[in-house]
Amino acid sequence: MQRRRFLGLMGAAGVSLAASGKAKAAGKEFHGYPGSNAVLFDATRCIGCRECEAGCQKVNDLPMPEKPFDDLTVLDQKRRTNSDNFTIVNKYDVGREKPVFRKFQCNHCLEPACASACFVRAFKKEPNGSVTYDASVCVGCRYCMIACPFEVPTYEYHEALTPRIRKCHMCYERQLEGKLPGCVQACPKEALTFGDRDTIIKIARERIRTNPGKYIDHIYGEHEMGGTSWLYVSGVQFDQIGMRDVGTTSAPELTAGALAAVPVVVGLWPVLLGGIWAVNKRKEKIAAQEREEAVKNAVAETQEKAQQKMSEALTKAEESAQRRIDNEVKKAVDEALKAKEEEAKGEGEDSKQDEGEGA
Ligand code: SF4
Ligand code: SF4
Repeated sequence: MQRRRFLGLMGAAGVSLAASGKAKAAGKEFHGYPGSNAVLFDATRCIGCRECEAGCQKVNDLPMPEKPFDDLTVLDQKRRTNSDNFTIVNKYDVGREKPVFRKFQCNHCLEPACASACFVRAFKKEPNGSVTYDASVCVGCRYCMIACPFEVPTYEYHEALTPRIRKCHMCYERQLEGKLPGCVQACPKEALTFGDRDTIIKIARERIRTNPGKYIDHIYGEHEMGGTSWLYVSGVQFDQIGMRDVGTTSAPELTAGALAAVPVVVGLWPVLLGGIWAVNKRKEKIAAQEREEAVKNAVAETQEKAQQKMSEALTKAEESAQRRIDNEVKKAVDEALKAKEEEAKGEGEDSKQDEGEGA
């Protein structure tokens, strides 16, 4: 099912429920940890230099891209994050003299859809604001990818044995060490500001208040999807720089509404998710068996070929040895015959001489 459709269904179910007056929120609303951190992206300051991408790549030990970070021709195409790039910058021509640039990464939702969709709890909203991921418990169902309204989590499809979900984790470990996230540290234009979320919102409001002609009056992420730990201010409408109107209802609220609306689904949910898990495990088992079988066949085939080559080489060696022996024997026989002939010839000459002397 397509991500948008899935969310649409969830949303629709939630809405119909609210209308019928039967809607009940999950009962445990959560609006972020007090004092948690956030990052403000200011689209009026970003120059599209890609230094933030390079900073992210460096601190996360990610592979260098095909085109170097100072090659800005990549901005001519709309890109999205992938398992090797947790953050990217896109360029938007909005009919102004200059284009507008926008950075894209995980928004670290206060109530993350990825976490509420993950039945093994591989995702976790941390007290510092990061949404982290634990690969050791992940079963690879990729449900988080379907659930995320911002299309952030990506999967290591190229990893045959231990594929992981990959996404920005807001430099969780660096934050614990008191360091800035890699992208924030790298930005030369202060387009990224890091701090506690309440202060960041105040900074954003102040910029809008003191520069009314420069900014539109909206802080994206303050309420979107129940609030996020990445916040955005811009001089143009957010849909012009590729940011969707995702509503202000948090993911768990949407999910709770949808599930409560169809009681049978509530019972089936764990079965369904368990089923997905079992199917994935079975696929992995079959893939492992197939791999083992392929290796066995390859080894047998190689051994057979090696044996055939060995026996051909032995036959050739035997034939050549036999030829050498035959040649030696023939040579010895020829020499013996020749010696015999010489001897016979010598004896003939001696008897002629004897006869001549006798006459
Ligand atoms: S943006 Fe997507 S991946 Fe990031 S926390 Fe929100 S739901 Fe999860
Ligand atoms: S480093 Fe700063 S100015 Fe450069 S692209 Fe990233 S956010 Fe924009």
